Amino acid sequence: MAMPLRQSLRIGGYIMKNKLRGKEKFPLLLELEPLFACNLKCAGCGKIQQPAHLLKRRMPVEQAVAAVKECGAPMVSIAGGEPLMHPEIGQMVAELVKMKRFVFLCTNALLIPKKIDQFEPSPYFAWTVHIDGLQERHDESVCKEGVFEEAVAAVRELKRRGFRVTTNTTFFNTDSPQNVIDVLNYLNDDLQVDEMMISPGYAYEKAPDQEHFLGVQETRELFRKAFGGGNRERWRLNHSPLFLDFLEGKVDFACTAWAIPSYSLLGWQRPCYLMSDGYAQTYKELLDDTDWDSYGRGKDSRCNNCMAHCGYEPTSVFATVGSLKESLRAVRAN
Ligand code: SF4
Ligand code: SF4
Repeated sequence: MAMPLRQSLRIGGYIMKNKLRGKEKFPLLLELEPLFACNLKCAGCGKIQQPAHLLKRRMPVEQAVAAVKECGAPMVSIAGGEPLMHPEIGQMVAELVKMKRFVFLCTNALLIPKKIDQFEPSPYFAWTVHIDGLQERHDESVCKEGVFEEAVAAVRELKRRGFRVTTNTTFFNTDSPQNVIDVLNYLNDDLQVDEMMISPGYAYEKAPDQEHFLGVQETRELFRKAFGGGNRERWRLNHSPLFLDFLEGKVDFACTAWAIPSYSLLGWQRPCYLMSDGYAQTYKELLDDTDWDSYGRGKDSRCNNCMAHCGYEPTSVFATVGSLKESLRAVRAN
């Protein structure tokens, strides 16, 4: 992943240390979901369909901290649901930053004006704002008018206050290469966010809209066209060069979902945050009791259209750290 130098060195050192200890499977990033409730109802969302009693629950801070400690991941992405609806979200982030974990707080931005005073800028903390397109496209994606404008205003305020701001943009088969170019140009050049993440939408079984998820060939074609003309090199994309090669279809990888585990109110989700074949009580149990060889494209039909970062970005990071040539390429891309 393209990332600040402090973070790159720490992650590289962490991977080398685990490899030297002979560990085959270990986490790079924990997807922490301390609640399922959200203040939006996006058609492509696979999280907010949980039953009412679960939507009301909030994970205590101690439980979140214990999960981070148990798995040992150096990076934590807090999502949901909408994490800013959690009454102790400021405290949760502060505790994880104190532990020197790199924390990404994923949000649709609507509650940032109300909650911003609970957070302080830190090299260990970044916001990840969900922006799926320019105004019309984003508002359509989140099924509510006016959200794009609020998100943009919130990003400007975060930047003004000195926070590191990244964005996450999900693409569907209704997106053209020009849509991708337009939104990434806007985020990169006009809004000047620090880094941008891109994802092909995964076909959640429970998402109300099942018609607009991208297939593998469509994903490759979309990104190959969008990345042309020097765009890929110019955009500050928060991904390793090998993962971008993967999105374009220049390389293929096996899924290593065990490196981006998901912990929620229900436990450690098996095998990844996109699919739920049950839950483990601990990360160790998740590692030991999951048949990892049975997941990934070509092995499980539910994985066939998946090119999501939670399965394939860790593989590309391991391949980068394991190759001098790729490491130098990643440094140059940074
Ligand atoms: S903002 Fe995120 S969590 Fe909320 S409904 Fe949309 S996709 Fe789901
Ligand atoms: S390919 Fe990997 S990350 Fe994607 S849905 Fe399957 S198990 Fe999850």
